[in-house]
Amino acid sequence: GRLDGAVLRTEGLSKSFGGNKALQDVSVEARPGEVTALIGPNGSGKTTLLNLICGFYRPSGGRLLLDEEQVGGRAPYRIARLGVARTFQTPLIPQHMSTLAFVATGRYVTHRVGLLAAVLRLPAFRRGYAADDAEAYALLRLLGIEDVADRPVNSLALGTRRLVEVARSLAAGPRVFLFDEVGSGLDESDLVVLERAIEMIRAAGGTVILVEHNFPLVLKLADRIHVLSQGQLIATGTPAEIQADRRVLAEYTGA
Ligand code: ADP
Repeated sequence: GRLDGAVLRTEGLSKSFGGNKALQDVSVEARPGEVTALIGPNGSGKTTLLNLICGFYRPSGGRLLLDEEQVGGRAPYRIARLGVARTFQTPLIPQHMSTLAFVATGRYVTHRVGLLAAVLRLPAFRRGYAADDAEAYALLRLLGIEDVADRPVNSLALGTRRLVEVARSLAAGPRVFLFDEVGSGLDESDLVVLERAIEMIRAAGGTVILVEHNFPLVLKLADRIHVLSQGQLIATGTPAEIQADRRVLAEYTGA
């Protein structure tokens, strides 16, 4: 890595749902100024790992370290306060709100204020919690989608909505970004914008964790790839190493 040390590390992290071992003894790390990709077939545990990292799930075992501090099991808002933001494939916030207001809610995650207060932008939420409109607009501009600022989020094309999710995650001012399938449903021009945004975050020393099905996009963007299969880590390497790994190939081609 260009900068020393992992910002985020898991040590033997595990999660079970009843008897289902969704994640078993997984140790991964993500470094600042790098894009770390999590790949693997459906059901391999990628989303579970993201949910453990952002605090939505409590680990059944193992440790989650941020700056070498054990934070596994802490509430999502406490982990968000430490500078971790994630995007959602299906936004949690009612999408009839304007895109600008939606992006401004990106900051609610770092506070204990409820989702409803964030959505309604109640005074308790607005006082310093929400990004202001100018800031939200600047983020939309950064992604080249400021023209949709006044439109309801649910009127936007899927690709644009993914970019709006990226803008919303930026509003929290995080240093660790968890991007959940942000590349899916994007056309070529949206992909170019997304790539630029991710490169920008990386250049600024941000830590990006990418869960992504788009393998060419992963190969292009990732510095390091972790491969999950049936809840276990089966490979870690650079894009070149992963492409040459026969186990990974087998996992994807069934060979
Ligand atoms: P991926 O994101 O790689 O498709 P997931 O993390 O969604 O994989 O799923 C891994 C396993 O964990 C699956 O067997 C899935 O059914 C299970 N799982 C994930 N979340 C839950 C949950 N909230 N309750 C029960 N089982 C879950």
